[in-house]
Amino acid sequence: MATQTVNNEAAAHDERGVRDDARAQIVSYDPATNEEIGRVPSCSAEDVRRAVGRAREAQKDWAARSFRERGRVVLRAREIVLDEVDALADLISRESGKPVTEAIMMELVPTLDLMRYFARRAARMLRPERINIGQYTLLGRTSRVVFKPLGVVGVISPWNFPWAIPLGEVVMALMAGDAVVLKPSELTPFVGLKIADVFKRAGLPEGLFNVATGDGSTGAALVEAGVDKIMFTGSVATGRRVAEAAARQLIPCVLELGGKDPMIVFADADLEAAAAAAVWGAFANAGQACASVERCYVEEGIAEKFTARVVELTRALKVDAGANDAADIGSMSCERQRGVVEEHLREAAERGARVLAGGGRGRDGGAFHEPTVVAGVDHSMRLMREETFGPVLPLMTFKTEEEAIKLANDSPFGLTASVWTRDIRRGERVAERIEAGTVMVNEVLYTHGIAQTPWGGVKLSGLGRTHGRAGLLELVRAQHVHTNRLAVLQDLWWFAYTPQSRALFRQFARRFTSGSLLQTSLLLPAMLRRLRERRR
Ligand code: NAD
Repeated sequence: MATQTVNNEAAAHDERGVRDDARAQIVSYDPATNEEIGRVPSCSAEDVRRAVGRAREAQKDWAARSFRERGRVVLRAREIVLDEVDALADLISRESGKPVTEAIMMELVPTLDLMRYFARRAARMLRPERINIGQYTLLGRTSRVVFKPLGVVGVISPWNFPWAIPLGEVVMALMAGDAVVLKPSELTPFVGLKIADVFKRAGLPEGLFNVATGDGSTGAALVEAGVDKIMFTGSVATGRRVAEAAARQLIPCVLELGGKDPMIVFADADLEAAAAAAVWGAFANAGQACASVERCYVEEGIAEKFTARVVELTRALKVDAGANDAADIGSMSCERQRGVVEEHLREAAERGARVLAGGGRGRDGGAFHEPTVVAGVDHSMRLMREETFGPVLPLMTFKTEEEAIKLANDSPFGLTASVWTRDIRRGERVAERIEAGTVMVNEVLYTHGIAQTPWGGVKLSGLGRTHGRAGLLELVRAQHVHTNRLAVLQDLWWFAYTPQSRALFRQFARRFTSGSLLQTSLLLPAMLRRLRERRR
């Protein structure tokens, strides 16, 4: 069997992210050394359908379990993660190229927090809700909303946070009572399989969580395999294809897509903090975060000082294999992604941009690229319009608050943004005028790590939300239960229609729809006459 379920044997072990059709395998490599890590099956459409079938069967029993029971499994899985932090970080680092230290702080720490949060809080977040239906209560009606699992959720994930992104969605879906089929990135299949292994050891029922390894064709097959929803994280181009395929199936999808996130630094900002934040925000994960700082706008008065400090901090960063604890910048995920970075820099340089720090590969042997600071850029360059997704920090200056907001919003993307100022009121005022799913004041990049807060973009950055209550609600079906506690009193608007009913309905139009209980109560005599009329 090509798909892996939590109760299957480990995968058989073949070209990094490239399908080998003859053997139907995917080869995973360490991008820092180009050494093969192992081979996994490339699942066919039939494999994926079978996985969805198993998941659907297992979900019935899971949905009947209490939140406490579901939470217990998630908390057991959390204990396993906690016991194995170093081994897990090594695997994440090896398959993605990022420093081990970063794997711990940017992938494992946030998910440990997320697992605890949803295991303990999902019950409260999904408690049935009574709805105030105003004047309808006078007619003896009540309404409430109950939240029911969707069924089987398909999760399709990227390589840049191969642990944190899928794991968060798996945990939320399991807590909501859903089963999951995960299609991890073809560049990081072993991390995906590891997530399944952890849940297997935590006692998750067989078949409830399945991992279908493979490339884009396996992902496309998952969208068409009969799932109830797709949670997709990846590029805009693939997101569009997923949304089109989901529309054909008439299933919903959440799309967490790319970004070109701006950082605005006002003259009154804490310059030292802002410079360090720009450097970490742009270069953490070798700049391969959807929320990386990809455009930095600095107020003219401090531009020289700020730029000098950014350049100094950047030059101090160490580019090395992720296994080295002193590495700040690991290998990029793959040659193809480094190629995008080099192309954006080449085009910008041709149009007059100047490299102030970095600019080269920095190290041989893997997909390394130096952290690079660039000035003399403008919005006609691909470097300022398209997602670069690499360790590049382009700097531009502005004169006024209005100009800064205009520059920040002049982008087809809208994932996150950050505003730096000591004047918090100004920061929050500017934040609310920026077109982005998340805007941080005096912070950068990290809020995907806060499980309580919603995550998602506007414009080309995506649709829907993950994390927080908004994210959990994406994984359930809201059902409205409406009850008439005075069934003996048949509705006034039922047949037969008469001249009197017309007169009453006219009164309804004026008084009932006013929303006022007093106005509605003035209708009571006419309503009683109508009841008697209907009984005749
Ligand atoms: P990608 O779009 O190339 O691939 C994402 C996933 O989709 C992979 O698992 C891939 O195999 C699968 N896939 C490819 N073709 C498919 C198809 N036709 N149908 C279904 N699935 C298919 O993205 P990537 O290169 O892995 O990831 C980098 C991108 O992800 C960047 O644009 C980044 O900004 C974005 N990203 C966004 C967020 C966010 O939260 N908004 C987070 C991380 C990454």
